[in-house]
Amino acid sequence: MSKPILIVGGGPAGLAAAHAAASVGHSSVLVEKTAILGGAPIQSGYAKLVPSGQWAKDAIGGMVSRVESNPKVEKKLNTVVKSFDGTPGNFVAELSDGTRAEVGSAILTTGFTHFDSVNKPEWGFGLFPDVVTTTQVEQMISSGKGVRCPSDNRKPKRVAILLCVGSRDRQIGREWCSKICCTVSANLAMEIREELPETHVYIYYMDIRTYGLYESDYYWKSQEEFKVKYIKARIAEVTSDGKQLIVKGEDTLVKRPITIPFDMVVHAIGMDPNVDNMTLSAVFGVDLHRHGYIERKDTYGVMGATSRAGVFVAGAAIGPETIDDSIAQANAAALNAIAAAAGNSTLQAAE
Ligand SMILES: Cc1cc2nc3c(=O)[nH]c(=O)nc-3n(C[C@H](O)[C@H](O)[C@H](O)COP(=O)(O)OP(=O)(O)OC[C@H]3O[C@@H](n4cnc5c(N)ncnc54)[C@H](O)[C@@H]3O)c2cc1C
Ligand code: SF4
Repeated sequence: MSKPILIVGGGPAGLAAAHAAASVGHSSVLVEKTAILGGAPIQSGYAKLVPSGQWAKDAIGGMVSRVESNPKVEKKLNTVVKSFDGTPGNFVAELSDGTRAEVGSAILTTGFTHFDSVNKPEWGFGLFPDVVTTTQVEQMISSGKGVRCPSDNRKPKRVAILLCVGSRDRQIGREWCSKICCTVSANLAMEIREELPETHVYIYYMDIRTYGLYESDYYWKSQEEFKVKYIKARIAEVTSDGKQLIVKGEDTLVKRPITIPFDMVVHAIGMDPNVDNMTLSAVFGVDLHRHGYIERKDTYGVMGATSRAGVFVAGAAIGPETIDDSIAQANAAALNAIAAAAGNSTLQAAE
């Protein structure tokens, strides 16, 4: 019997990889650096997920439960990997809790870091309490508290959602599109309108990327059924007149300056590379993409292959990714990791 797989990161991708391996009878050691499993959707308290409409605590909570109760998965919380040596079939990992794990292969499912909006100071986050992020609005909804202005707990009458905060922005070194935030924002806008039907919700965008089937279920539905207004604009700054927030910029369709008051401004934050990636790269000997994500070396042949044989990657560790695609990648990586643990030498990245 080949050795267990080391899975690093207990978010949706890591949970899926552990479950997939266990389903075919293969053991794994799941190492998670925080005290809880579930990754960003649980740690950040997401509300209803797109596209399923399920609450994150139910959907991802279910993935956590089935791994927690699975004897084929050894769980190591509050733990990181300190060193990783060997070759496919025979690796040794030293863990921060002082234990040593003999494993046949590894999957990095270490995910992403939310963009910190203080890096976009001209848009008011950190200066005005009613400038918040999509994750904060998700938490307001998932906690049952409802959408309220943090400054005085009032129900906002006018909400602006600004897209592409920390994405598609070369000035701050973030060229990538974070892929899911247009759809997440359209979904949040509908949830705000559902809870507060009197509230006007505006989405300010460069381009709308509700790709694939999301176009009808989020972009058009939010406008036609929920009366969310979309404005193509270049936002210059978010200030305050002492009573309300003021969004200033240019409406790029009619080419006119805009100065519009709001009670709440929401930053649709993007998905940065995990802040641990330099360390992970050094410990596991894997290359990073030029933007700082973990680089996958093969797109079609060996899903999830990295620059090091026997070490695979899946989910948002590779780049901005949705939950369902992270899960699909994790299932593919689990299959390849099982084969590598058994010493299958054909599972090298294509050069
Ligand atoms: C505001 C917002 C809303 C979103 N809503 C949706 C949605 O509705 N639907 C959807 O499909 N997607 C959504 N996403 C994207 C979703 O968050 C990701 O697709 C998903 O979290 C990726 O899962 P993952 O397991 O790859 O990574 P993560 O969820 O980031 O999990 C990574 C795990 O690894 C752990 N970890 C990190 N570094 C280490 C280390 N060095 N050692 C050990 N453990 C480590 C972390 O603690 C974490 O538990 C949203 C994203 C944002 C920003
Ligand atoms: S998905 Fe939309 S909001 Fe997110 S970075 Fe891409 S274009 Fe911007």
